[in-house]
Amino acid sequence: MIQTVFLDIDNTLLDFNECAKASSMKAFRDLNLTFHDEVFPVFIEENDKLWLKIEDGSLTREELHKIRWQLIFDRLQIDADGILMEKLFLHHIKESPVLMSGALDLLTYLSPKYTVCLASNAPEQQQLKRLAHTPIPPLVDYIFLSEALGAAKPEKAFFDACFARLLGASPETSIIIGDSLTADISGGMAYGMKTCWFNPKHLPHPTEYNIDYVVHSLMEIQKIL
Ligand SMILES: [Mg+2]
Repeated sequence: MIQTVFLDIDNTLLDFNECAKASSMKAFRDLNLTFHDEVFPVFIEENDKLWLKIEDGSLTREELHKIRWQLIFDRLQIDADGILMEKLFLHHIKESPVLMSGALDLLTYLSPKYTVCLASNAPEQQQLKRLAHTPIPPLVDYIFLSEALGAAKPEKAFFDACFARLLGASPETSIIIGDSLTADISGGMAYGMKTCWFNPKHLPHPTEYNIDYVVHSLMEIQKIL
């Protein structure tokens, strides 16, 4: 019997990619740069690579902020200040969250039935500000952010810190829902939680993960919980 639901935030409840695209366009405008078609795909590629390094512990978030846009500018052969771009980008990101389709309906459904926890590796201030711009906060019981807990998904220490605050909860009666196999699913699996992979892009199902549920839309989760 599931009692506690962990939900990832970026690209699960909030559409980080849409928000990042809008924010990069605004920051390009601030810098008088042309936002051409190649920019955003390169952002996604470089950003994903950097986040994988954060998950495996070989990069810190501070380092990501220092190098992210410079790497992207270098690849696109754009002569601009990566640090300034990062500042403008983060400013716009905080102001403009975009909800994933079905996110509010899902939380409204889960909120009275379960202890609902958000679990994210994104920067604390950025995430709290973005959430504050949405109707999400009153629908959740706990917001677990790696920066505040001192450990990130998929580390055991992240979940230890969450369960230390969740009195009476256990991994066996908990489920984690998220779009990331490396952070959400592998973290939850290793901790003995049930797992639900949110796979809206219909990516191939990797055999090395023993996932309990795979959903392609947030609406489908109401059939499981
Ligand atoms: Mg995510």
